[in-house]
Amino acid sequence: MKRIYLDYAATTPTHPEVVKAMLPYFNESFGNPSSIYSYGQEAKGVIEEARGKVANLIGARDEEIVFTSGGTEADNFALKGVAFANESKGNHIITSSIEHHAVIETGKFLASRGFLMTYLPVDEYGIVDPGEVKKAITDKTILISVMHANNEVGTIEPITEIGRIAREAGVYFHTDAVQTVGHIPVDVNELGVDLLSMSAHKLYGPKGVGALYVRKGTKLTPFMHGGEQEKRRRASTENVPGIVGFGCAAELARQEISQEAERLTSLRAQLTRGIMERIEHVRLNGHPLKRLPNNVNISVDFVEGESMLLNLDLEGICASTGSACSSSSLEPSYVLLAMGLPPEQAHGSLRFTLGKWTTEEDISRVLEVLPRVIARLRAMSPLLPYRK
Ligand code: PLP
Repeated sequence: MKRIYLDYAATTPTHPEVVKAMLPYFNESFGNPSSIYSYGQEAKGVIEEARGKVANLIGARDEEIVFTSGGTEADNFALKGVAFANESKGNHIITSSIEHHAVIETGKFLASRGFLMTYLPVDEYGIVDPGEVKKAITDKTILISVMHANNEVGTIEPITEIGRIAREAGVYFHTDAVQTVGHIPVDVNELGVDLLSMSAHKLYGPKGVGALYVRKGTKLTPFMHGGEQEKRRRASTENVPGIVGFGCAAELARQEISQEAERLTSLRAQLTRGIMERIEHVRLNGHPLKRLPNNVNISVDFVEGESMLLNLDLEGICASTGSACSSSSLEPSYVLLAMGLPPEQAHGSLRFTLGKWTTEEDISRVLEVLPRVIARLRAMSPLLPYRK
């Protein structure tokens, strides 16, 4: 059975060219970039080359890129770094209620250390109202953090507008762009952000490497203490193969971005239309147009997301649901709840995220399998009216 992977927002396969670029830095040119002999200097050179490629993808200067262990560390660094470096100015941070756990949980930690967190609501599409951001700013506000696009529903936030508001108020502005970098155009100056998080494994790079863009002049307390790597902003010996892979993935993304976004938008339309035509009592979650080119998130009445996932898996199709299964309870997606969906609709959510190796045939296969899976589950569902 051919496996169809439609969970590219969770992670992407590493591009073969990226793997090839990384290989020499495991055991041929394996030097420590801090060493002054040639092995070390070679490694240092390729890190700087990769930094340039990542900077180029987002319109930044090379020295504004700090490599991290991934998107989670970049988010932690941005929030804690600004909070602790700017405590004397204020203790208020504004974010949204649909951020990734990496921001939400960091916010909870900061709240436990005396910072005041505001979690802004979103509308039915998952959009943060810039007017609400403006209203929430006080003379104690030191940071605004709103994600560029949501990982579950794919909604793209009005970052440029929020950036303008942040700038006028003299407040630092961070965006988690883990789901957008490499997929839609991202330019730190157009967006007006001071900090921006990225993760290589979402754009066909390796896992365990990411970066934080830090606008020149931004006051930030280092997150890792130790050596003097990354201009003293992030201690620890650099993940040389990972960083080289990230650079290669960034370069490939830059070359392919517009063509690939167009192709995925068309596949997305084919999938969305096909689902709506074939299945009753289904709705699209997130904004119909202001969304990532590769994201289709639906709520299916009278069935649970997990049941659909497991049944699709048996047919070789990998997708995702927003609800997280824990040992004693099924928690519906907090993102969908924040968008105003009732818990039963939030429970029945299914996310397909398409990518580089998704074909029209894959979409046709999903459109053949999904109606059958849903009909079978509905026939067994204790949730009326499908129960016979
Ligand atoms: N932020 C967003 C929006 C994400 O989707 C993810 C990953 O799913 C992360 C942060 C965390 O990135 P990483 O897996 O590199 O830590």
